[in-house]
Amino acid sequence: MKKRLPLKVSVSGVRGVVGESLTPQIAARFASAFGTYLGPGQVLVGQDTRPSGNMLKKAVISGLLATGCQPVEVGILPIPTILFLTREKQARGAVVVTASHNPPEWNGLKFIGPEGLYLSRSRVEEFLDIFHQGEFTFVAAERIKTPGQEKNAGQHHLNKILSRLKVRTIRNRRLRVVADCANGAGATLLPQLLRELGCEAMFINTDLGGDFAHQSEPVPENLKELCCRVREFGADLGLAQDADADRLALVDERGRPLGEDLTLALAVSYLLGQKRGPVAVNLSASMAIDDLAARHRVPVIRTRIGEINVVEAMLERGAVIGGEGNGGVIWPEIHPCRDSLAATGLVLEMLASRREKLSTAAAEFKKYHLLKDKMDCPAELAFRAVVELRHRYQSENISTLDGLKISWSDSWVHIRPSNTEPIIRLLAESRSPLRSRRLIENFKKEIKVIIRKLP
Ligand code: MG
Repeated sequence: MKKRLPLKVSVSGVRGVVGESLTPQIAARFASAFGTYLGPGQVLVGQDTRPSGNMLKKAVISGLLATGCQPVEVGILPIPTILFLTREKQARGAVVVTASHNPPEWNGLKFIGPEGLYLSRSRVEEFLDIFHQGEFTFVAAERIKTPGQEKNAGQHHLNKILSRLKVRTIRNRRLRVVADCANGAGATLLPQLLRELGCEAMFINTDLGGDFAHQSEPVPENLKELCCRVREFGADLGLAQDADADRLALVDERGRPLGEDLTLALAVSYLLGQKRGPVAVNLSASMAIDDLAARHRVPVIRTRIGEINVVEAMLERGAVIGGEGNGGVIWPEIHPCRDSLAATGLVLEMLASRREKLSTAAAEFKKYHLLKDKMDCPAELAFRAVVELRHRYQSENISTLDGLKISWSDSWVHIRPSNTEPIIRLLAESRSPLRSRRLIENFKKEIKVIIRKLP
């Protein structure tokens, strides 16, 4: 019999295979728990393009109505747009039916709190307690609201982005762009943004019917068609979003994928030239960020992995830019969340105002080689192995904020048990691809030996 994959519950929400671990009953229960946690008020309900989205959205709306909340459907929209709207409309929160970059048979729920921020770890724990205990505050029939709808909700988000960009400078450059929306929610707004910025744009994978033309993680192996189209179209650059449009990867004018971590480096490089201030990134982001911050004499705040951790640090320290090395750029002037649309605006403004090619802008960051890998390992062993490694490397320059990061003068390695899967993630960065690979392989070997010796 086929093994059923369990529901994944983490700080970043709930994910499962539809019809197996993710059913309408489960979705309604989570929505009732969330409604109980938030209390009565407006809650936005959005979705990505997956075919199961409508079914789960209806279950979410029922669960919210039952607890006296007023759900407002905003339809298929990028997740940063829904975060933005939650704050703009001063809603109590939002639920988004999405499984980000997972395959189409998966779906999930993301929970957004007041102010349009993801729930912090302690808030998630409080909300999950309500879910597990099943103590929902169901209201009587006369207190059940009528669900509302909001059409063209994305326009507010676009207006905000356009209000912060040098629109005329960008329009005058008439940049040629090819964009791959990965059949995701980004296709609802990116065409309009590029039109407003005067780009000559060509789009691929904009159909919202729920069929993904390729896996939606914007990593080089998934961007082959985009790279070809950039060359054919003679484009200045290629843009690739993931299915919920919080991440952005770039392809240069020669049709070469730059790698997701360069999106953040380019955004930080450009923004610090406009405005000085702290930068916040997670522990796994490239050393290029430290170089840029040193050049502009501003501090870098390193946080645990997880978007909300970066966002909280940014708000606390007044960071002017931040994000994650997976193509997640956070420009707090728009809204403190990873946003592929805001990132697109920044990159286009950089190319237009510096009047340089994307390959030239990216060249200075090509000296670093960031490698990402993983190894299978049951969660409990993974945690014990990392504890042992911390002990062994305690005299080195280490951070134990999240797993173990060891830094040397021109390289680092970050080893971290995954919160959602039985794997250990390993990242290494150095000035040569060979050395980064060697760092990863050596630590994999060491971890295997440690695990073998564990009592
Ligand atoms: Mg995403």
